[in-house]
Amino acid sequence: MIKKLVCIQCPLGCEIEVELNEKMEVVEIKGNKCPRGYNYAMEEMVDPKRILTTSVKVEGGDIELVSVKTDKPIPKRLLKEAMEVIRKARVKAPVHVGDVVLTDLLGTGANVVATRTIRPKALKRKKTDANSAHKRCGSMKI
Ligand code: SF4
Repeated sequence: MIKKLVCIQCPLGCEIEVELNEKMEVVEIKGNKCPRGYNYAMEEMVDPKRILTTSVKVEGGDIELVSVKTDKPIPKRLLKEAMEVIRKARVKAPVHVGDVVLTDLLGTGANVVATRTIRPKALKRKKTDANSAHKRCGSMKI
């Protein structure tokens, strides 16, 4: 059996053909222009991995969700289980870009990190109040 893949390791996007035997073992890989493509194709056949992007609930933030992603690819077979873990997670505001929200997700060694900043609710209100006060007295806050 021949499986066709497009390598996603660089913008060249080489078309790779993987020949598998009846036991679904890799017999030959061709079409890759470098070893990264070979490794990618092998991994796709044996244990494909993906970066997981989703969101986590935030307590006390100016919005209720923070977007997150794993800091490295995790096995595709674990994505559903990983989503269950992330769905139950909560993080307290403030949250900053790059903050680790969960460590070693399902023992994969991947951390879940925030990809945006969430301010606490109180800070947002304070700023709004200050701006309102400036508007009332006619001064401008720079
Ligand atoms: S095989 Fe190598 S050159 Fe081709 S897309 Fe993959 S990483 Fe890029």
